[in-house]
Amino acid sequence: MALLLLLLVLLGGAVALGMYRASGWQWAIALAAVTFAWQAGIFHGTLHFPSPGFLGLLAWLPPIILGALSWEQVRRPLLIQPAFKMVKGILPKVSDTEQQALDAGTVGFDAEIFSGTPDWTKLRAIPPIVLTPEEQAFLDGPTEELCRMLDHWQIRHRQREIPEEVWDFVKAKGFLGMLISKEHGGLGFSPQAQSLILGKIASRSPDAVTIVMVPNSLGPGELIEKYGTDQQKHYYLPRLAQGLEVPCFSLTGPTSGSDAATMRDIGTVTKGHFEGREVTGIRLSWDKRYITLGPNATLVGLAFRLFDPESILGRGEDIGITVAMIPATHPGVNIGRRHLPSGAAFPNGPNWGKDVFIPLDWVIGGEKMVGQGWRMLMECLAAGRAISLPSSATAGAKAMLRFSTAYARIRRQFGLPISRMEGIEEPLARLVETAYANEAARAVTAAMVSRGEKPSVISALMKYQTTERMRRAVNDAFDIHGGRAICDGPSNYLQSAYQLVPVGITVEGANILTRTLITFAQGALRSHPYLYKEVQALQDPDSERGIDAFEDAFLGHVTFSVANASGAFFHNVTLGYFGNVPERAEGLEPIYRQIWRASRNFALVADLTVAMLGGGLKVKQKLTGRLADALSELYFLCCLVKRFEDDGRPAADRPIVALAAANGLARFEEALRGTIENFPNAPARAFLRAVVFPFGRHYYPARDALASKVVRAATEPGELRDRLTRDIYISSDPDDPTGLLEVTLKKVVAAEEAEKKLERAIRLGTVRRYHGIDWIADAAGKGVVTESEAQLLKEVEALTARVIAVDHFDPLELKPNYGAESPGSLGHNSRALGSAAAE
Ligand SMILES: Cc1cc2nc3c(=O)[nH]c(=O)nc-3n(C[C@H](O)[C@H](O)[C@H](O)COP(=O)(O)OP(=O)(O)OC[C@H]3O[C@@H](n4cnc5c(N)ncnc54)[C@H](O)[C@@H]3O)c2cc1C
Repeated sequence: MALLLLLLVLLGGAVALGMYRASGWQWAIALAAVTFAWQAGIFHGTLHFPSPGFLGLLAWLPPIILGALSWEQVRRPLLIQPAFKMVKGILPKVSDTEQQALDAGTVGFDAEIFSGTPDWTKLRAIPPIVLTPEEQAFLDGPTEELCRMLDHWQIRHRQREIPEEVWDFVKAKGFLGMLISKEHGGLGFSPQAQSLILGKIASRSPDAVTIVMVPNSLGPGELIEKYGTDQQKHYYLPRLAQGLEVPCFSLTGPTSGSDAATMRDIGTVTKGHFEGREVTGIRLSWDKRYITLGPNATLVGLAFRLFDPESILGRGEDIGITVAMIPATHPGVNIGRRHLPSGAAFPNGPNWGKDVFIPLDWVIGGEKMVGQGWRMLMECLAAGRAISLPSSATAGAKAMLRFSTAYARIRRQFGLPISRMEGIEEPLARLVETAYANEAARAVTAAMVSRGEKPSVISALMKYQTTERMRRAVNDAFDIHGGRAICDGPSNYLQSAYQLVPVGITVEGANILTRTLITFAQGALRSHPYLYKEVQALQDPDSERGIDAFEDAFLGHVTFSVANASGAFFHNVTLGYFGNVPERAEGLEPIYRQIWRASRNFALVADLTVAMLGGGLKVKQKLTGRLADALSELYFLCCLVKRFEDDGRPAADRPIVALAAANGLARFEEALRGTIENFPNAPARAFLRAVVFPFGRHYYPARDALASKVVRAATEPGELRDRLTRDIYISSDPDDPTGLLEVTLKKVVAAEEAEKKLERAIRLGTVRRYHGIDWIADAAGKGVVTESEAQLLKEVEALTARVIAVDHFDPLELKPNYGAESPGSLGHNSRALGSAAAE
């Protein structure tokens, strides 16, 4: 017993020193004290150590070494310089384009998670959703009006085109210039407002939102606003804001998809004639595809690699990636025909050109910005990726919840609304969780961007997580609706989302790449408290300054790693009981504690992964993908508690927060466990298992009973359902398929008692329910229901018949309507490529 106590005291002491980041000499003194106590016989009676002798002398080595290393004169040559060389070999090599991507964004709350000790005051300091009166009026006015105009069946099937009146409306109301400042004729809306406006439109038509989203994300508008010359700003921005110019942005080509930086599109600086004068310009050849709005664009934003073989600009031969804007009518610009992405109606197509001469002042930002294209793109992407797709994916998930809660309550099988069946409760509970968590993370992230952050790591994880969760939400909605979801037609309100899910997953960095490479493999470098400083120190051309900076970062890193290991072990053996909780947690204490504990574990595993894999990080994508998931879960958990607090802690939301937190922690643990179990180094694997899972698994998904409670509440029309689906377009028009759901749901709820009586009578055989029989009148006649109940049941019957009805067509109507010349369109782009190369 005494022995056990002694060991516990020694272990506790070591853990405490580690957690409080003791310096080298503090460790040396502690070790010396223990060694002295042993040799002085103080432990006798508890530990039967062998008598000191040679072993005793050897035992003094650790404190002596640690003490010696506390002196800079000893530490520099013996530890820092060899470590400098070794780490240089291990750390991931950072290419120029990666470096620009890393430098582009800002580090925000992601660094708190990587630190293992998140500062809750920083989380709470992120503003809640705030819109100006003008932004709110725009959301409630023109945005609502636009949504009412959108007929998804006309758009994606009958016309396969965004209707002219929709284009005219969005141009006239300024939708295309939301991010352009007021000074330049735009609306100058905050990212939070843009996110909510885009979301509302997306909830109505994922197709139509694209024509608003693209001009308000990475493209000519944003690039000119941020980097353009005064002349470019004064000329183009008001035109873009009013829709006099329709922009597109061309980065992707047949050979440069995810690896866009290796594009083969080339510009050569040369002299040429433009408008009758000889000017310095660029001769361009390019071949791009998948360009959204391309077929309708009047202004083509183009990324290419610029060379200056005659040194006209005097900046060397390979100037680098450059971005220019070219009027679509400029001679030599080929705007191709249209792709047909997932059957969508928004314009998307290739464009190309061969030896097209443009003046140098068409480069965005003019001559001084040549070669800065990649940095410009990465800076805009770091913020933009946090807004466009997360807003539409969040709104999509909320819409799936709104429709499915209504449908599941209206649709009856086996004498029951299907929402009451446990099998259906599962996808419904997932939908509630996704709608709540996506919105929580969307709002927090948009608020960060609104206050000027460009959160590169968070925007990457937001993009892949919200779109993946949206994919699952759409699948869940489909399963809940059964055949009603599958048969397409004007009354099908799910198909457009289903068709467009892969678009959101693929654009702005396809999700697999974003998850496995961008979020963690590059994110760790950016958000880790010391790693980036170490990399910068290693790359410093001034070796003395580099080694000084490296020493600071390296020593900080070592104490950080020891603190993580000690902290993680401590919080795991105490089951997170001592995790840090902010003031006024008001019932959220257990969740805060577990997030704190989980962050400690994440920081440890992430740190060791980077240290062990170094340059191999980019290829060990199964590990980095899991760590990206773990990081995402922690971020979403933080957003979850923040949303609950920002919303004023509504009692009805508590079970949802509890459900989402339990599931989020379980997924977090799954991701971390997967990383550890597949860790390539056996001793490190064993160490991590012992520290992170001293008692095995920590977390379990939410209990079935909690999920049932949440689903019951969410399928009830009222405040909670409205809050869960806030800021999407909700119709109350019974002639609109989604409005019909709302109207019918209310009647179904009102008729529930009468419905039960009727079902009982049918089960007992008192009333027979077959085609050709008026069973409701029969039930009323037999006193099963009252006359007024019968009236209500009839209304429900009629409305329900419309809700569950699917469309059918004349075969001729279903013939493809995109032209008879389809075979000729195959390989169009390769013809373009051939022509670009051969012309
Ligand atoms: C409808 C639509 C609209 C678009 N709009 C535009 C636009 O307006 N402007 C524009 O410039 N581009 C646009 N794009 C292009 C889009 O950004 C690219 O499709 C995307 O970057 C991926 O390129 P890719 O399709 O060639 O896939 P590929 O690069 O061929 O990738 C295929 C798969 O491999 C994975 N992968 C690739 N490299 C790695 C890696 N290192 N590690 C792990 N996985 C990897 C990807 O994640 C993906 O799953 C659009 C695309 C579509 C489909």
